[in-house]
Amino acid sequence: MKRKISILGSTGSIGRQALEVIEKLQDKFKIIALTAGSNTDLLNEQIRKFKPKYAYANDTNLIEGAKVQTLDEICSNKENDIILVAVSGKIGLKPTITAINNGIDIALANKETLVMAGDIVMPLAKEKGVKIVPVDSEHCAIHQCIKDIAQVDRLIITASGGPFLHKSVEDMKNSTVEQALAHPRWNMGKKITVDSATLMNKGLEVIEAHHLFNMPYDRIKVVVHPQSIVHSAIEYVDGSVIAQLGLPSMHIPIQYAITYPERFQGIKSKSFSFSEIARLDFEEPDWDKFKALNLAYEAGKLGGSATVCLNASNEEAVFEFLDGKIKLFDIINAVEYMMAKHNIVKNPNIDEIFDIDNEIRIKTRERLKLVSA
Ligand code: NDP
Ligand code: MG
Repeated sequence: MKRKISILGSTGSIGRQALEVIEKLQDKFKIIALTAGSNTDLLNEQIRKFKPKYAYANDTNLIEGAKVQTLDEICSNKENDIILVAVSGKIGLKPTITAINNGIDIALANKETLVMAGDIVMPLAKEKGVKIVPVDSEHCAIHQCIKDIAQVDRLIITASGGPFLHKSVEDMKNSTVEQALAHPRWNMGKKITVDSATLMNKGLEVIEAHHLFNMPYDRIKVVVHPQSIVHSAIEYVDGSVIAQLGLPSMHIPIQYAITYPERFQGIKSKSFSFSEIARLDFEEPDWDKFKALNLAYEAGKLGGSATVCLNASNEEAVFEFLDGKIKLFDIINAVEYMMAKHNIVKNPNIDEIFDIDNEIRIKTRERLKLVSA
């Protein structure tokens, strides 16, 4: 039996790599739907190759060879066994909830979904008996390590440290967009690459881990590991540490998430060699240089809408940085400012989350206009 899958965001970094995985496992998958944002040329190419029944793009008139379904319609379509949510940003949240409500399993790349609404999404998935398997490499690693969560003492999330790991604060302050986008290990979409330069990405991942594994923040540790070979680890109550290792390639976690609980050779091309890797280094994060990490822990511990504020202000500021309008440190200063001003709503529902998200984005842009003026 082929597993029926749809990919939201098939034209993105994760989406394209997911299709590479599926190409290697053609006898295991049938694609129901593919979706793009603005890259309709690539979407049409993918439609010709993978022949999904349905597709979506911002300009639906440009779609060739598939029926149009919105993201929400795709996620209501019970033909799907699993949906890979690989869109970037807040647009991942509502379709994910729809899929869960329809009992469709989720391979989740879109971390914003849990950062914005983990308190809603995780209990709903539990209630509906829906599996959420993480694609994010750290969480995928932890998912692979855990046998019994009740016996886990701590989660240990690794961070490559990004392009500024051993650079001075001055270098980081004067970073160009190109320097921030030059990630030493991973080739990803632009937004997450900037987040990896400030370590906000790691902060978002701490919040993501808190929700996925129901782990208090003081039992989630971040350690810098520049080689990105150990993708994360867990420490059991008895002191035993289990880590997941592999070459830094998103193909492996993507394949794991969409084939779980089975495993196949699929995309694997060579065997892992400890002696080729030779050494693994670990160090504490520089909390002064990477203030974003602290802000994310604070937001997570505050709970409620604090993480909505963190995510929205960060994303808007990252867009301004990518547009060349502000400096790299302005991103984190803006997040800190917005967090300090934010009146936390304790248990926001989905509509409230989107309202708060909107309001924070507007206020962040206003604030950044003052900064860049
Ligand atoms: P990309 O920017 O490369 O891709 C984003 C995808 O979402 C594209 O297909 C894009 O379409 C689509 N999209 C964007 N905006 C819209 C919109 N308004 N409506 C419909 N579709 C839209 O991002 P990544 O693949 O890097 O990341 C995707 C998600 O996965 C993010 O949440 C990220 O945090 C997470 N993630 C990514 C990792 C990576 O290695 N890249 C690792 C771990 C997590 P188009 O290009 O056609 O406009
Ligand atoms: Mg990650």
